[in-house]
Amino acid sequence: MERRIFLPEKELANAWYNVLADLPTPLAPPLHPGTKKPLGPEDLAPIFAMELIKQEMSPERWIEIPSEVRDVLALWRPTPLVRAVNLEKKLGTPARIYYKNESVSPAGSHKPNTAVAQAYYNKKQGITRLSTETGAGQWGSALSFACSIFGLKCKVYMVRVSFDQKPYRKSLMRLWGAEVVASPSPDTKSGRDVLARNPDSTGSLGIAISEAVEDCVTHDSTRYTLGSVLNHVLMHQTVIGLETQKQLALVGDKADILVGCTGGGSNFGGLVLPFIPEKLKGRPGIRMVAVEPTACPTLTKGPFRYDFGDTAGMTPLVKMYTLGHTFMPSGIHAGGLRYHGMAPLISHLTDLKIVEAVAYSQNPVFDAAVMFANEEGIVPAPESAHAIRAAIDEALRCKARNESKAIVFSLSGHGHFDLTAYDAYLNGKLEDFEHPEEDIAEALKHLPKVE
Ligand SMILES: *Cc1c(COP(=O)(O)O)cnc(C)c1O
Repeated sequence: MERRIFLPEKELANAWYNVLADLPTPLAPPLHPGTKKPLGPEDLAPIFAMELIKQEMSPERWIEIPSEVRDVLALWRPTPLVRAVNLEKKLGTPARIYYKNESVSPAGSHKPNTAVAQAYYNKKQGITRLSTETGAGQWGSALSFACSIFGLKCKVYMVRVSFDQKPYRKSLMRLWGAEVVASPSPDTKSGRDVLARNPDSTGSLGIAISEAVEDCVTHDSTRYTLGSVLNHVLMHQTVIGLETQKQLALVGDKADILVGCTGGGSNFGGLVLPFIPEKLKGRPGIRMVAVEPTACPTLTKGPFRYDFGDTAGMTPLVKMYTLGHTFMPSGIHAGGLRYHGMAPLISHLTDLKIVEAVAYSQNPVFDAAVMFANEEGIVPAPESAHAIRAAIDEALRCKARNESKAIVFSLSGHGHFDLTAYDAYLNGKLEDFEHPEEDIAEALKHLPKVE
């Protein structure tokens, strides 16, 4: 039996898969934050590169990957699909467990898959500088890497709590030439406003997004980039699922259960979206499980409503599962899963009951992470460990029912910069958070009125 299923470089996808072409019902349109009317491409032009705006709205099923982008992806892609044989034995399950190892990229996660594409299209348009936010630092490092490859300047607003907790993510970004500041920062009006109200603010992704968007509209030749949530970002990530399909075919297997953690929905979308046509037409029994923290239970507890993507209310309104743009997350270690919203695509598929969602608290997630590290060797990112927890529980259910299913999960990144979190777990200091129902009810009072 093969443990590591490799594809040769020539099998790198030629085109991204755009699920917009195959949705049973269309997505609700994004709305202008001021007029509340559907957005046109011209509304987004000051913020995003034109080619990315086109991709965001494109009805084409396949969009060609430029050779310049494929050449950079080929530094680490195709990534291995690995059969977790030791983990299966440890669990005593008849299930086959596979993981798609996205931790082998230069930045250590799936995020460079879209960072490279976004930097490329901006460069091609003549843009010289990109602004962005980062939570745990994964997206900031991915974009810094991509900007260094294409010779672009990069400014990263990093959520204060991570800026202090993860100094080495910051070093990585600076090594790749980016400028990094803690958010809220004194560099923008939105940052200064938050600091005036609360000088000790630990920040949030919503605040950092407001700062990065403001930076973009107040600087020449600058565009903003987002590492998750948007349609084009999920589309760039479909290389994950497309490779997985080929790799499973190589060993004559078919996925029964696909699992991924969901912060904004991009690694999960990247894995599952290419399987949507199969689910709609051929094999309705194939399940897609999104995994989130109980501290930020967007899909499992939030309503499906129009909301802002940021705290200051500068971004377009999108229809999504949301905990409200005023949501302040508790300090869980899976920084990449602390976003109040969710990709409109993943929200829509959840609403249609094509995707299902589960939530776990920190300690069971780290139990799974440590078991995985001891059986398979790789120390997972705390975000990815949510997917591992759910995959293990599915495998245990297979054992109880004596069912031999193929479970595939996305190992979205490694945890080499998260060892503080592992220390806290090993020292018995990890707290389990349940986001209080009252806080959700309160935040939902501040949702923008649309109808
Ligand atoms: C950013 C990140 C996530 C969460 O983002 P998604 O867009 O939901 O994928 C998950 N895992 C890792 C390793 C990340 O860096």
